[in-house]
Amino acid sequence: MADVTKFLSGIANFQQQHFGENAELATNLIEGQKPQALLIGCCDSRVDPALLTDCAPGDLFILRNIANLVPPYLKSDDYHGVSSSIEYAVCILEVTDIIVLGHSQCGGIGALMQSSQGNETGEFIGKWVNIAASARDKVLQEMPDGPADKQARACEKEAILVSLKNLMTFPWVRERVSKGLLSLHGWYYNIGTGQLRYYNQLTGDFDILVERYSPPSTLELEASPR
Ligand SMILES: [Zn+2]
Repeated sequence: MADVTKFLSGIANFQQQHFGENAELATNLIEGQKPQALLIGCCDSRVDPALLTDCAPGDLFILRNIANLVPPYLKSDDYHGVSSSIEYAVCILEVTDIIVLGHSQCGGIGALMQSSQGNETGEFIGKWVNIAASARDKVLQEMPDGPADKQARACEKEAILVSLKNLMTFPWVRERVSKGLLSLHGWYYNIGTGQLRYYNQLTGDFDILVERYSPPSTLELEASPR
């Protein structure tokens, strides 16, 4: 069995950071949660939403799945893990924001791109990522000659738009958005640079929201007070 000591010392550090230095936090958390936002992210180990946003317990209601996808509103006898999480966040917790957080180098979107060549992945993955089939088809139509990595980056962004569109098929999401009680956001995180973009409805582009990290220059460091 692999050594999990690293995770245990992580828990101890977390306790110290969030409980040791903030005695009120535990009391507040026991009373309930009132997160501002539902964040729908990918399962990918490189894009942990709480780590990326530096959030504390109680800040974010997080739903993660392969390729951060939202299926359309569809009632059936299947098990609706994603839809029930969205329902809980919107109808019970009454979050004011839903953020769909996509990312570069997404394996789920990679599987979706592969499926265009008749290679469906796994027992469940292929069908799941097919939620964004329209995004893949649009990208392949617009850039049929590749290259494959550019197609994948474009599809990662298009798939976020599919999820935002599908969110609006849930009647209680649509109602709250139309009343101005709920805002939907499409974010795209670049794994290689840390840059964050957002979908700008006015321009139809993914514009920069948080620029990539650049270390302070030597001059700035010398000028800053000590
Ligand atoms: Zn992913």
